[in-house]
Parts: sequence; structure tokens; C-alpha cells
Amino acid sequence: MDTTTTLPTHVSTLVVGAGFGGLGMAIKLTERGEKDFLVLERGEDVGGTWRDNTYPGAACDVPSQLYSFSFAPNPTWSRSFSPQPEIQAYLRRVAAEAGVLDRFRFGTSFDAARWDRDEQVWRVETSRGPVTADVLVTASGGLSEPRMPDIDGIDSFLGEIFHSARWNHDYDLAGKRVAVIGTGASAIQIVPEVADQVAHLDVYQRTAPWVMPRRDRAYTALERFGFKHLPGLQKLYRTGIYWGRETFVPGFTVSPRLAAPAKKLALANIEKAITDPRLREQVTPTFEIGCKRILISNDWYPALARDDVDLVTDPIVKVTAGAVVTRDGVEREVDAIIVATGFYTTEQPIAEHIVGRDGQSLARHWAGNGMAAYKGTTINGFPNLFQIVGPNTGLGHSSMVFIIESQLAYILDALRSMRDTDTATVEPRPDAQRAWNDDLQRRLRRTVWNKGGCSSWYLDAHGRNTTLWPRTTFTFRRLLSTFDRDKYLTTARANPARPDADRDADRVEQTA
Ligand code: NAP
Repeated sequence: MDTTTTLPTHVSTLVVGAGFGGLGMAIKLTERGEKDFLVLERGEDVGGTWRDNTYPGAACDVPSQLYSFSFAPNPTWSRSFSPQPEIQAYLRRVAAEAGVLDRFRFGTSFDAARWDRDEQVWRVETSRGPVTADVLVTASGGLSEPRMPDIDGIDSFLGEIFHSARWNHDYDLAGKRVAVIGTGASAIQIVPEVADQVAHLDVYQRTAPWVMPRRDRAYTALERFGFKHLPGLQKLYRTGIYWGRETFVPGFTVSPRLAAPAKKLALANIEKAITDPRLREQVTPTFEIGCKRILISNDWYPALARDDVDLVTDPIVKVTAGAVVTRDGVEREVDAIIVATGFYTTEQPIAEHIVGRDGQSLARHWAGNGMAAYKGTTINGFPNLFQIVGPNTGLGHSSMVFIIESQLAYILDALRSMRDTDTATVEPRPDAQRAWNDDLQRRLRRTVWNKGGCSSWYLDAHGRNTTLWPRTTFTFRRLLSTFDRDKYLTTARANPARPDADRDADRVEQTA
């Protein structure tokens, strides 16, 4: 898609990542008449996680009517829970129709960014050379860096091994002995699909997840006709799904007792598919429902009940050249290992490469107490840096696209405010950021994610929940509806008449 090989020396706004976040940002900037921006994308297409996760069975577990841009409804969704290829095709179409692709530089990796205090720009290194930017927007995604498990000997395995997010479609699983490590959202979609192809499947479970029935169905011809010709109908579906999802929030944040009906459904899901009492016991979770992400599937338990599928719950101690070895000493030979062990979530890999006002990387800045931002979007010490899907913006119940659109509105209002007032830089005041995070952590303490008796990717090494938003999504939207300039440190533009001319650092005035 990209025909341009060089980058300009400077852009007003530089966006990193071309998933829902980066694409949304490009569309909204364009709608505002802004042309001086670029989106860097290391891959060759838009889509982010929906481009990368091509494993068999990949589908979204939030209904598509809600898991899509509010400003770009898609009348052609085939089912209530869209498969990955449809979501990827949707993102491609939205990008093409919005006419923004000429602003994207595919196959271009963001390597590093350093804030230049004198020039008040981000100095960015990319695989296509340097570029400076007044504003840096990271939209690199919360689930973009696959995490390989730290298992003794895994590098010495001589068979085929790949992560769920880096599926090797050239490898034919037919008739092979295969191991799947992990029983999270990815694994429960993969296992039923590959069980049909392979000779034998071992599924290595460390923790049994809660799995509810998946209320998935194809839309009828009448519904699809309605989606196409009655725009209000899609809106109605979206609104219904949205409010249905919001009703889950009290079960997560007030009392797990409110989630009792969900627990009942999940237990019935086990009983329906599994008769063997030992297997039933092995797959029954021992923590509160919601503590880890609640999964949805109708074919996960039936797959585990198959004769040619073994659920292994003894911990893996090592991998040899041709087998997986568990603590009980059993060595299970395999031809291939599918690693479905998730992503780096509580440490953002990109944070290593962003150096702020004081010469410290974002990773180092967060090393002591874990990730923290103001409104999940801006960070003290990192002027003019905006993060889409930053700390504590994740959800256990609804669509991340809703969160992303809330952040887009906030960032665009910040950019408008900066332009209207000849402001060169904004960064949140330390007291505002502290108050925001104190409030978040106080709310999180009583949630099922923190006290539900599980360890999950929601919690960091300090046991702090730095990933999830503990309130309703409409509260998040309200709190980010306007740029609250009084919560920011700002510096005035040195030369308001020529905003893009050389900046005179001596004339920059610091205001609180
Ligand atoms: P995940 O939810 O983090 O699950 C990773 C799995 O690997 C867990 O079962 C974990 O066990 C296991 N594991 C990790 N390290 C291990 C080790 N060393 N030995 C044995 N097992 C190990 O990752 P994911 O399934 O890729 O999903 C990540 C997120 O992506 C989801 O939470 C969801 O937000 C998103 N996602 C969504 C969809 C969808 O919409 N349908 C699909 C896929 C992914 P423990 O539980 O014991 O840690």
C-alpha cells in the first residue's frame, strides 16, 4: 500500500500503530482538516491485533455492532460475533473510504523517541530514518507483543513452535501430535479448531478459566436487509448491546455475588459437555468469576471431552527436543507446540523506547510503581505524548473501541486547545495525575480483579491493577469529553505568528 519510502523531516502529529486506535486518530484528524500528520506502522496493513491474530477460530467476543467505530457502522456483519477476517476487512474498508491511507507509512517501525527540551519536539527514530514531531500519539495496542513462556528448554525444541499471534499457516497440522500451552481467550478458540485436524492434542492448563456459553448466531437475511436500509436499526442493536454489557460492571466492581447468574451458566456449560467427574473437576475454576477475563465458547468443553484430546494440568517443567515434560515425570512427545500464553500487558514494550523531559525512559519512569497515566492518556514528564489504550483503560466487559473513541475525543480537544491558545506543550500536573491514580487504585481494591483469588495479566509484578478501568464506560467517556487544561502544565509557543518556525527556548514561559 505504501509507495513513499522517505519520511518528511517534521510533522505536527506522529501516530504509532495502525489498529483501531491509529486508524481512528487518522480519520478524526482528517475530518478536522488536519493534513500534517503521519501514521507509522511496522506491519504491511492496517488492523493491528486483527491483522496479526489469524489463528483458526479467531473471532471477537464482543458483538460486532458494538465492536466497531460508532462513526462507521458496518451493515454487512454476517454474525453477532464476527470472525477475524471480517473485522480485518472492515478496518481496511473504513481506512480506504476515509481516504487516509496516504498518511500511513507501512513497513516502518518506530524505534525510539526522545523529547528535545530546547526545540520542544519529539525526535523520533524509525526504520526509514529520523523525523521530528510536535505531538506523539502511541496507538501500539495493549495486546501486541506476544509473550513466550519462560519454560526450561523451550528454545531447544526441534519440532514446529509458534505463538498464537504469529500463526504459521505454512505448517500443516494434519495428522500431527500437537501441544497447546495455555487456556486463555486465544487457546479456547484454537483448540476446538485444531482438534479436528491433528492426530492427538495435549492441552496444558495452568489455571482453569470461567467459560460461558457463546450466544453467537448468523444474522438473518431480514436483519441484514434492515442493517443496510434502516440505519436506525444498527444503532438500536448497538445501544442494546452496550447497555446489556454495562450491567456486568457491578458484578466486577461492587460484589461478585451479583455475578452469580453468570457463574451458574458457566457451571452448566461444563456439565452439559463433560461427563467424566475428574475432567469436570479439572476444568472447574477455583477463583471468583470475572477475576480473569470471562471467556465464551460452546465448543471448548466438548473439545476437551474428546478421546484424542488430553487436558494436562500437571505443571510443565521443561521442553526437550521432541517432548513436553510435566512435574509428574511424564514426557509427552509432540511434533508441534502452539504457544497461547498471551501478551506483554503490564509492561508496555514501547515504553523502553520513549525518553521524556528528564532524560528517563517511560519504562524506567514506571519501574518503581508500575504503569500510571492521567486519564489513561497523558503522563507527567512526557510532554505532548498521548497514549491510546494507556494504563487502566482496559475493560473486562465491553468494547475497547468505545474507550478508544473516548480517548480520540480527548486528544483532539487537547490539540484544538493547544492550537487556539498558541500552546507549545502540555503535560499533566503531577498532583492531578496522582489524584487520578489514587482514586483508581482505591476503587480497584474492592473489585473482583484484585480480590477474586486469581493472578491475571490485569495485575503487575507489584500486584497493582494497571490495566483495567474500574467504572462504567460512560463515566470514562464523560471524564474525557473535554480537555481539562487546568490539570496540565503548559508552555506557550515561542513564536505564535509562525508556529512551525524555529522555536526560541529562552522565550518559553512555564505556567502551572
Ligand atoms: P491470556 O488470556 O493471557 O492467556 C494465556 C494463557 O496461557 C493462560 O491460560 C495462562 O495461564 C497460560 N500461560 C501463560 N504462561 C504459561 C506458562 N508458562 N505455562 C503454562 N501456561 C501458561 O492470553 P490470550 O489467550 O492470548 O488472550 C489475551 C487477551 O487477548 C485476552 O484476555 C483478550 O483480552 C484478548 N483476546 C480476545 C479474544 C476475543 O475477543 N475472542 C481472543 C483472543 C484474545 P494462567 O491463567 O495460569 O496465567
